Amino acid sequence: MKYVYFFGAGKAEGHGDERDLLGGKGAGLHEMTRIGLPVPAGFTITTQACHYFFEHGDKYPRGLDREVALHLARLEKVTRKKLGDPHDPLLVSVRSGSARSMPGMMETILNLGLNDRSVQGLAQRTKNERFAYDAYRRFVQMYSSVVIGLPKESLEQLLRDMKKRRGTAQDTDVTAEGWKELVESYKKFFRERTGKDFPQDPREQLWGAIGAVFGSWMAEKAVTYRRVEKITGLLGTAVNVVQMVFGNKGDDSGTGVCFTRDPSTGEKIFFGDFLLNAQGEDVVAGIRAVMHLAEMRKRMPKLYAQLERVRGLLEKHYREMQDIEFTVEEGKLYILQTRTGKRTPAATFRIAVDMVKEGLISKEQAIERIKGEDVERLFYPILDPSQLRADLAKSRLAIGVNAVPGAAVGQVAFSAQEAEEMAHAGMRVILVRRETSPEDVGGMAVAQGILTATGGKTSHAAVVARGWGKCCVVGCEALDIDYAQKQFRAGGRVVRQGDWITLDGSEGAVYQGQLKLTDPQLPPAYETLLSWCDKIRTLGVRANADTPQDARKAREMGAEGIGLVRTEHMFFKDFEQPEKSIERQRAIQEMIIADDPEKRKKALARLLPFQRRDFIGIFRAMDGLPVVIRLVDPPLHEFVPHDRAKQEELAKDLGVSADSITRRVDMLHEANPMLGHRGCRLAITYPEILEMQVQAIIEAAIACQREGIHVHPEIMHPLTMDKKEMRILEQATRRVADAIIKKEKVKLHYLVGTMIELPRAALLADEIAEVAEFFSFGTNDLTQTTMGLSRDDAGRFLPDYVDEKKAGIFKHDPFQVLDIEGVGMLIKWGIERGRKTRPNLEVGICGEHGGEPESVKFCHRVGMDYVSASPFMVPIARLAAAQAVIEEKKVGGKKRRSK
Ligand code: PEP
Ligand code: MG
Repeated sequence: MKYVYFFGAGKAEGHGDERDLLGGKGAGLHEMTRIGLPVPAGFTITTQACHYFFEHGDKYPRGLDREVALHLARLEKVTRKKLGDPHDPLLVSVRSGSARSMPGMMETILNLGLNDRSVQGLAQRTKNERFAYDAYRRFVQMYSSVVIGLPKESLEQLLRDMKKRRGTAQDTDVTAEGWKELVESYKKFFRERTGKDFPQDPREQLWGAIGAVFGSWMAEKAVTYRRVEKITGLLGTAVNVVQMVFGNKGDDSGTGVCFTRDPSTGEKIFFGDFLLNAQGEDVVAGIRAVMHLAEMRKRMPKLYAQLERVRGLLEKHYREMQDIEFTVEEGKLYILQTRTGKRTPAATFRIAVDMVKEGLISKEQAIERIKGEDVERLFYPILDPSQLRADLAKSRLAIGVNAVPGAAVGQVAFSAQEAEEMAHAGMRVILVRRETSPEDVGGMAVAQGILTATGGKTSHAAVVARGWGKCCVVGCEALDIDYAQKQFRAGGRVVRQGDWITLDGSEGAVYQGQLKLTDPQLPPAYETLLSWCDKIRTLGVRANADTPQDARKAREMGAEGIGLVRTEHMFFKDFEQPEKSIERQRAIQEMIIADDPEKRKKALARLLPFQRRDFIGIFRAMDGLPVVIRLVDPPLHEFVPHDRAKQEELAKDLGVSADSITRRVDMLHEANPMLGHRGCRLAITYPEILEMQVQAIIEAAIACQREGIHVHPEIMHPLTMDKKEMRILEQATRRVADAIIKKEKVKLHYLVGTMIELPRAALLADEIAEVAEFFSFGTNDLTQTTMGLSRDDAGRFLPDYVDEKKAGIFKHDPFQVLDIEGVGMLIKWGIERGRKTRPNLEVGICGEHGGEPESVKFCHRVGMDYVSASPFMVPIARLAAAQAVIEEKKVGGKKRRSK
């Protein structure tokens, strides 16, 4: 096997697309050499060699030494210099570089090849003794710390001591003698600590450096970085041994970093910094003021013109914004590295759209380049990036699950009620709970952000917050919440009610105090790119929305209808007239407490006008578009208070005894409520609930129609599992609806359908489709019931199933990314069976997966008509649906049904 690849003198053995083998840096160096850019010569030891090294107890593969020797000889030939030559030595840098960028995580050694003799050669050759000894001390320092592991701080101290002795303040003022003195103290320190002399043999130095770079792949910080960034499946790091060029040879030398476009805005301007008479690490360290490229253009026009040409060449070649490192040695430009530049989400859109306009890429390529996160991040306020990492680390309290990205600052409230009171008093609030339930929606709605100690990405808090695009951190197990004391402990600190905290939902971090936030702006390129997506995609995109406000937001985000209205959310909160919320709550509670159908009907009659008003608002917002309204779904115990004080309050309001309420609540208790008396099972037992809800929907639809609004109601029953069950529900629905339509003497078309969220329903879809006019896959429950995983509790151990370092059974959390192999099989089966019975069966999805790109692509492939996602996820679904078409074309798939 070949482990070493050469590049230099205009030729390269490797290619730009061999990132997995050569690492990103290596692949870039080989490719740039191929296209004729001025790249110093060198060779790359492959990631396969690194892999072998770790697989075989830190041993190099057989023959690697010979291969390296051969390529070193080649390098010496091309550069006409020899490693260790006492007259004109070849010096090299030894740099790491894996297939995915891991900035600052792995090691680099510069100026390798210097020793007590060759440093003199370098001094003579360059006629610059100071430069030569500066280079030597840098090398000894780097080698001692990186290869040998001597403490950096002690080495820095020796530098400070030398400067103090000599009375020099700046590194730039240190003389040749000063650097010589420092080299001697470094060597002495080396001897004291290791019992050996600093290695003088350049080959020994080289192998030491190669070993250190390989070793840095498994260093703790690199392993942690890969875990956090979810970087998996890489072999290791490559090692690049490259001829040194020097930017610190005088005022006709320098070093710089540039971006081919502005990484913050995406604007097509050449953007970057240059540092005269400096080596690469000086730019990164930020110790001296840099010169912007605009100034360099004025002061060094020739050089700037060369750099500008390189910029054009690289962008044309890679068709992507590049981040370039360069060095100028005595007036000659060298390109040391190029890679795809990191950028803000706004810049991502602008660059993609501009590149299409410039003819560099196609619209399809532009769409493919955008990731779901790029869209998501556009919308959320963010932590002001000017805040220093060190300051952030100091104020961090805990890390949880990053449920909804963005950031929020507010004062802590421990109950929904207090959150509402504080918000009412004009305060900004962060609601902190162990977990949330539908009762908390009022407090959640007014909060800037939500933090819970338990739960995963589909917990109640996460689902509701996502729907509102509200920053949310869940599963923050380190929070020790004490409701009685109104405080939580985390990270050794105590945070009390009213204290300020900051949430970063993108990272899942919780900070003490008020950190600075900024609002991202939607770039015009966003609209352009999404309009391209809409033209390409064939899958419809609807939204999950429970209120008129949400519905308006959904439409603004490009939703083509509503795929799920969770009507029970309206039982707790009046979003239009918040002061009326209590009336709704009392009505539903009275209905639940009622012990006979007549009393129940009376209570429901009080709820009816509220529901009707909500539906009218939603139909108005969705004029001309379909609206799927689901009848009540959660178990009834969620709507009644469980603590005695609140029960007494309720008893007083309803004029009944507190004991009767306690008895009723106890009766509602179920060991396993998720598999209990919920969903359409409630309508089977209490048909009056169904009747009231259908009446509200149909009356609202007729009222809107009379205003000239086009309504397309679709009435949906949750959690069905059987044709007969569905038949009962359908007949009850039509009985109520048709009677009203007849009485009002209007024409109104509506559909009656069902959610498919139990395996039995999917398996018997052909039978159920005899009755149901549409299916909507409720993949939250379908995942829960297919896999036997509780959507509320599985977060405690699911990470072990997903973490590659632990069991690594699943690639993703199945509540986030659809389990295509298992749950997906039921969906596919359900659609095929359903459409066999009813070819025009409308099929959608309304679980959380409807806004997750990979799941959306699956929905496209299995021929769904639409996906339905939270309003803020709608653009992501539009993008993913377009990407699905592009991917399908690539594999030569069949044409899809139209939306
Ligand atoms: C589902 O189960 O996927 C669904 C959309 O319903 P809910 O989340 O309200 O149970
Ligand atoms: Mg469900």
